[in-house]
This record gives sequence, C-alpha cells and structure tokens, in this order.
Amino acid sequence: MAAATHEVFNQPAPLVDANLFAINRPMQAALKFNAPALDTAPLQKLGQVAGSGEMQAHARLANVHTPQLKTHSRFGHRIDQVEFHSSYHALMTEAVGAGLHGAPWGEGAASPHLLRAAGFMLFTELEPSVLCPISMSYAVAPALRDNPAIYKDWSPGLTSRAYDLALKVWRDKAGLTMGMGMTEKQGGSDVRANTTRAEPAGSDGWGQRFTVTGHKWFFSAPMCDAFLILAQTKTGLSCLFLPRVLPDGSMNQLFIQRLKDKLGNKANASSEVEFVGATAWLVGEEGRGVPQILAMGTMTRLDCALGTSGLMRQALSIALNHTTQRKAFGKTLIDQPLMKNVLADLALESEAATALALRLARSFDHLDDPHEQVMSRLLTPVAKFWICKRGSHFAQEAMECLGGNGYVEEGGEGIMARIYREMPLNSIWEGAGNIMALDLLRALRKADTAAALAQELAPARGMHRALDHLADRLPARVEEMATEMEARRLAQDVALAVQAALLAQTAPPEVFGAFCDSRLDGQWGHSFGSLGSGTGFDAIIERAMPR
Ligand SMILES: Cc1cc2nc3c(=O)[nH]c(=O)nc-3n(C[C@H](O)[C@H](O)[C@H](O)COP(=O)(O)OP(=O)(O)OC[C@H]3O[C@@H](n4cnc5c(N)ncnc54)[C@H](O)[C@@H]3O)c2cc1C
Repeated sequence: MAAATHEVFNQPAPLVDANLFAINRPMQAALKFNAPALDTAPLQKLGQVAGSGEMQAHARLANVHTPQLKTHSRFGHRIDQVEFHSSYHALMTEAVGAGLHGAPWGEGAASPHLLRAAGFMLFTELEPSVLCPISMSYAVAPALRDNPAIYKDWSPGLTSRAYDLALKVWRDKAGLTMGMGMTEKQGGSDVRANTTRAEPAGSDGWGQRFTVTGHKWFFSAPMCDAFLILAQTKTGLSCLFLPRVLPDGSMNQLFIQRLKDKLGNKANASSEVEFVGATAWLVGEEGRGVPQILAMGTMTRLDCALGTSGLMRQALSIALNHTTQRKAFGKTLIDQPLMKNVLADLALESEAATALALRLARSFDHLDDPHEQVMSRLLTPVAKFWICKRGSHFAQEAMECLGGNGYVEEGGEGIMARIYREMPLNSIWEGAGNIMALDLLRALRKADTAAALAQELAPARGMHRALDHLADRLPARVEEMATEMEARRLAQDVALAVQAALLAQTAPPEVFGAFCDSRLDGQWGHSFGSLGSGTGFDAIIERAMPR
C-alpha cells in the first residue's frame, strides 16, 4: 500500500534467493585453477540454500535472539547449558549436513579440503558466527589423531553429517562437535602463561587421565561435546581432551561462568569457564601441548582467511546489487565514475582474497607433496594476517556504498552492519595480526621457503613489471629473514606477490593488471576507490557482478 504522505521509490530490492556459488565467478575460477576436475555439484546445492530468503531469515533471527546461559535448573541444580534460538539449530543443521565440519577427514571425495573450503566461504555469506563450532570441529582432527583411542571413538561422530544438539554421552549421539580452550585471563597469545593445572589421575582405554583445575577466559561454543585444552602438568604445558559428558554419562566438572557480550558474532556463544577437578585425557606428548594444539590452530587460521574472504564477497555482492539499482544525481550509482572506482577496487581485493584463501586450502589436500607442505606452512600466517587485516576496511567501504541504509541493522540490506561487526574478529582470534606476522618468521626458519616461494611465483614471471620487481627481491628477503620490526611488511609483501601471481593465472587481464598497478606499482591511494584512470573498470565490475 502506498504511504499517505509520499511515494517510496529508488530503494533497491535486496539480494535474495540467488545461488551464491553460481553468481561467484572468481570462486569458480579459483576452484578450476586449484582442482580442475573438482565436482562442484555440492557447491551448486549449498549456494542455493545459503542464498535463500528462508536461510537469510534464520541468520537474522539467530543474531537477534542471542544465546542465553542457563547455569541452574529451576530446582537449583547446576546445568551449565546454553539455550539457542531454533534458527541457530537450523543453521547448524545445514552446515553440518553440508559437511563443513569434520567431513573432509572421513570421506573419500577428491580435494576434500578445497571443496569444504569453498563451501565454508559460501556459508559465511549466509551466517559466519555459527561457523565457529563448525570450524573447530573441522580443525581438531590433526591434533586429536595423536590420541588414537579417542580418535577412533570420536571420529565417526565428528565426521557424521547429522547435527545432534543433545548433551549426552558421545556413544549415544548421531553427531559430535568440538571446541578449544587456550586463552586465560593473564595471556592468550602467550599461552605459556597458562596457570590451569592438570594432576595425573590414572589411565584407561583413552590413555593417561588427568584432573584439571583452573579456568579459560575465552571458551567459544561451550555446548560442544568436547574440547582440546591446554593445562600445566609436571612436565609442562600439555594438550588434553576434555569432554562435557564423561564416558559413564555423568557431567564433567566444567562450569560456565558467563557469556561474553561481544561486538559482533552474536549468534555464537563465547563463554568464560572454570574447571573444578574436571577429567581430561592427554593428547600427544606430555609437555608438548603448544605444538600439539597448534595442529588444530593451523586449520582454524585457514578458516579465518576463508571466512573473511566470504564476508568480503558478500559485502561486495550487496554493494553491487544496491548500486545497480539506486540513482543519485541523475545516474545509477554504479555509473557514477567515482563509485565505479570504489566498486572496482573492492572487486580486486575480494577476488585476490578468494584466490589466496583457496590456494592455501588446496595445500591441505596435498601435504604429501613437499612444495604444498611448505606452502601450507608459509601461507597460513600470511593469508590469515593479510586477508583478515583488509577485512574491516573493506567492510566499511562496502557499507558506505549503501549510504545510510548500510549502517542500519534491520533485515535485508542491514546484513552490512552485521558483516562490519564480524570483520575484526577473524583478525583477533586464533592469533592476532602481530602473532601471525611473527609466526611467518618462524615458518621461514624451518623450511626452504625462499625456493618454494620463487617456484610459486614463477608462472607469473614476465607478466607485469612491478610483480617481477617484487618477485626478484622477495626470495632474498625471505632468505635473510626480516627482523620482528619488519615482519608485518614482509607478510604483506608475500601476500600481495602470491595474490598477484594467482590472479595472473585465474583472472581476466584487467583484474590482474589493475591489481599489480595499484597494490604493487604505487598507482594507488590510501583508500579504496583510488585506482588509476586507465583501469579497466567495466571489465573488473562485470567479473564481480553477482549474476
Ligand atoms: C569472540 C572471541 C572468541 C574467542 N574464542 C576463543 C576460544 O574458543 N578459545 C580460545 O582459546 N580463545 C578464544 N579467544 C581468544 C583469542 O584467541 C585471544 O583473544 C587472542 O589470541 C589474543 O589473546 P589475548 O586476548 O590474551 O591478547 P594478548 O595476548 O594480550 O595480545 C594483545 C595484543 O598484543 C599483541 N601481541 C602479543 N604478543 C606480541 C608480541 N610478542 N609482539 C608484538 N605484539 C604482540 C597481539 O597481537 C594483540 O594485538 C576468543 C576471542 C574472541 C574475541
């Protein structure tokens, strides 16, 4: 019905019921490059679901009706449960059903990690915060495998495509999820400061048992079925498996103190917990807990890069959808030269992030290949650092394309506000920016990274002067190893060089050329929208258009 005082017009229709995979050309190109024979049918299916209006409504509701902690029953018994809106469970059911959690470790599909990575990115466009427990349940396998008895019992549940939210003993559940607990009040990056203690308490079929006393200051998705945690044993910091429900069906001594009141990531519960004589089992070697749990951290860092790339793509799609419909000063916004510059610049950033994140994901499918092994070690901190660092700036600019509507929370296009609040998180958790840059220095110490990097850049040699210039110098800089003071700059330059080399092989010449001109050759300002006037704006925007 028309408003009584005015006609409503020039308000764009939101992007609803689009197949997020079918409209994402940069993703399709990156997949073709990394695994030419990949069967993308599951992504077509997931893209349809993730882009649907029905699932978008679930995403909105799960963020509006946030998780509530119930510490006690109405009869005064401690229950430590987190209550979620039914939309949260609907999202989890889809994510687990799509195999975005542990499935790649259990199924025989070709390129399972790459396939799952693309699915994870598509699902991020729907709702990123439920992907926290999904990511941890995916990431846990490489670390948990070092307790073969537990892995044997738990892996069928962790890889099952059934979402089972009941708090029950593992053997009675159709599907299982896992989380991780490292961060304590006195230190998160420097986990060596952990004070949580673990005392020996005998052994059983799952190996050495410990009694754990202490706390965790950040403990996301506390309704997961079990957690890998760090605690001090006599030998030093050790990695332990701590289930919520013990094998005899009784509740473990894990108490949720409160839920964090966070900037974004609202649908996900992040808690503070205490362990009061909780039971846990050793995973890996006693006293070697940090490298042990980092086998899990490596995979969650991959997901941070994938997640931010997904959010960038979503923000860009919404910005393109809006500006193709909205008019100002007599023209559609997208036809205004300066808006074209902003959108093209965002498109370059989004495609480069997609290319780098999926390249990294590919390496986990081929860890028996020495080059891929080096790439997984080198590119994990690089991609996590650079892509996540670019995320917040990207979201702000994409939001601005919608003007005031971008800043409003309400449904539809209000997703922009949610994206903006989510963006800084991938940069902070699982190792903040500086920690990633310092981790890059550690990676350089360990392997023949200079030669591997040169090999990675080789296919793009001779294609752009600025890339050649960077590629000439980078292996030597890698070999020399930067000081800590220079670590961020090195991480940035490795990221840009690898992104450029990937775009040379996967993207149209306009995208590759403009990326190198701007990011590598100084033809760029300090904000998005400052590409040089000779840029192929229309071709870049057409490539990114969500249709
Ligand atoms: C919503 C949310 C959920 C989370 N969920 C979990 C979870 O489930 N499990 C879990 O274990 N943790 C979780 N975390 C914690 C997160 O991983 C940590 O907050 C993060 O690792 C940083 O640790 P910190 O907060 O102790 O900060 P600090 O370690 O104090 O770091 C503060 C800053 O100092 C920088 N810094 C630290 N050391 C150095 C150095 N040597 N040189 C230069 N700079 C340095 C860091 O980069 C950072 O910018 C979560 C965090 C958030 C926000």
